[in-house]
Amino acid sequence: MTEPLVDPFQRAISYLRLSVTDRCDFRCVYCMAENMTFLPKKELLTLEELDRMCTTFIGMGVEKLRITGGEPLVRRDIMTFFRGMSRHLESGALQELTLTTNGSQLERYAADLAAAGVRRVNVSLDTLDEEKFARVTRWGRLPQVLRGLDAAQAAGLQVKLNAVALKGFNEDELLSMAEFCARRGMDLTWIEVMPMGDMGNEDRVGQYWSLRDLRAQLEKHYTLTDLPESTGGPARYVRLEETGQKVGFITPLSHNFCESCNRVRMTCTGQLYMCLGQEDMADLRPPLRNHPQDNAPLEAAIRAAIGLKPKGHDFDYSRQRPDGQVSRHMSHTGG
Ligand code: SAM
Ligand code: SF4
Repeated sequence: MTEPLVDPFQRAISYLRLSVTDRCDFRCVYCMAENMTFLPKKELLTLEELDRMCTTFIGMGVEKLRITGGEPLVRRDIMTFFRGMSRHLESGALQELTLTTNGSQLERYAADLAAAGVRRVNVSLDTLDEEKFARVTRWGRLPQVLRGLDAAQAAGLQVKLNAVALKGFNEDELLSMAEFCARRGMDLTWIEVMPMGDMGNEDRVGQYWSLRDLRAQLEKHYTLTDLPESTGGPARYVRLEETGQKVGFITPLSHNFCESCNRVRMTCTGQLYMCLGQEDMADLRPPLRNHPQDNAPLEAAIRAAIGLKPKGHDFDYSRQRPDGQVSRHMSHTGG
């Protein structure tokens, strides 16, 4: 292993979130336009390049790898990549290999993922109502995702649900979602909607629903105990004493987690974003592609990029328009 990655603010970078495709079989209203133009295949890192990229990061101290997209499980042959990464789990260099998925392909892949060493998955699911699900995802079908959850649990994967909090859309499901998760032994995290892409002009299903309000609503029905654990990310957790289950709140717009930020994100074309809320990025594809036999240029480029990781981001909802809005879609940087 080479010198570990530490940014200018003394934060060790141990967590890489990697988008393996910009494509998706859903068109969630807060994430994508209905008519998306996707990247030509040659722009994407090949599976071999993704492997080499991750292996390099792991050699530099990344211990946690989260695969995302777009929808990671629609990338052709993606299991080859997962199987490849399992060697780093076996060697102990990688502590955790995980993914964020919309669940549509879990029925097909859950067992393979478990065999590759994946222990936990995050499944994004905003509603348990079939009609609302079709509306928010535009193209998705709820029963398929529910079968995916069954398959994941049957394969022994620990499942966490991620739900985007949307005012006037899933406010009324706060308790039913908590109960659904409690019954199935799944944790649940609510995510505040972020001003990404051209969301402001979209036919939004709902709008910003503050997690402070959501938490207050939850408190009317459950006894909440704050949990001290921090993953270095934007999530805060409570335990519902009545069910024992963990509920998280991700407030990506607040600045209060930036100090402990240990993560960077990479797009499926090899662009490294040092911070979700900043446009600054480093294109790692040229050093990767132009030097197939020599890893030194790639390592140098990674180190230089980490040296530019900013202290924090600029999202701010406190003014009328969402300031610090970035033009990228979440499906680009991978959420
Ligand atoms: N397709 C996979 C999925 O849906 O889980 C992985 C990629 S998706 C971009 C990752 C996460 O970002 C999902 O949980 C999704 O709900 C969330 N997301 C997308 N757009 C968002 C937005 N504008 N604000 C907050 N969360 C968003
Ligand atoms: Fe696809 Fe995930 Fe974006 Fe929905 S949130 S459109 S499932 S990438």
